[in-house]
Amino acid sequence: MVTNDNHQVSPVTLTFTEELSAGIYMIGFKRTFFFRAGQVIGVALQQNGPRRLYSICSGEQDEEIRILYKLVDNGYLTPLLSGLETGDTLWITEPGGEFTGDREPAVWIAAGTGVAPFYSMLRSGLAEQKRVILGNRYLEQFHFFDEFDTLLGENYIRCCTAETDEGAYSGRVTQYLAEQAELDPKLKYYLCGSAEMVVETRDILISKGIPFDRIISEIYF
Ligand SMILES: Cc1cc2nc3c(=O)[nH]c(=O)nc-3n(C[C@H](O)[C@H](O)[C@H](O)COP(=O)(O)OP(=O)(O)OC[C@H]3O[C@@H](n4cnc5c(N)ncnc54)[C@H](O)[C@@H]3O)c2cc1C
Repeated sequence: MVTNDNHQVSPVTLTFTEELSAGIYMIGFKRTFFFRAGQVIGVALQQNGPRRLYSICSGEQDEEIRILYKLVDNGYLTPLLSGLETGDTLWITEPGGEFTGDREPAVWIAAGTGVAPFYSMLRSGLAEQKRVILGNRYLEQFHFFDEFDTLLGENYIRCCTAETDEGAYSGRVTQYLAEQAELDPKLKYYLCGSAEMVVETRDILISKGIPFDRIISEIYF
């Protein structure tokens, strides 16, 4: 999504860049603002350059703002981002968005880099009474495994489609959900990922009796 609206942008200097797994990158810069876990920022390479939105992937009190992104080979921004080094400049908007977490019991469901807002919520102290269901193709793509596993234990479910591992479900998130005998209609269900993943997941939740207003979605398009 290109966001060339009238948002104010500010320059930041990169303090962190790393390829966490094949094609999945994390970049970071010093935090100079407050945000709510789950919010997004717009990112551009030049002050008036095309912007894309990214979930903040750090805790509300962390010293760095980090972003987790997937390299889209034929995309505009991510190939350029992947060539950046620490010391380079990015232009960012202020944080925004309503996909924010709270202390209520909930299920967090994501695929790929859609884990970012939930990692932000976890690092902001919101992991209690949460169940996290994540989907990826490869095991190495379950970033932040240790923190999710330590804090959530059996409430941290990895759905892996291309590899098997003890403790990981073999298959997609949607398949995992479809196989559940019962889902609690009183919980809130947060969904984050591609439009296809979110729509498919929402349909399954609704077919299993989850009221529409208990489903909160963030679509990466
Ligand atoms: C609210 C919101 C939050 C977002 N947060 C994140 C985030 O935290 N991490 C992240 O990686 N992305 C996130 N995105 C997607 C991001 O804004 C860009 O669309 C993405 O990084 C591709 O940008 P690009 O300029 O490289 O490709 P573009 O030139 O914009 O797009 C090229 C094509 O790639 C498609 N595309 C977009 N994302 C993907 C993807 N992940 N895999 C395959 N194809 C894709 C686009 O639909 C388009 O058709 C978010 C989007 C929204 C709307």
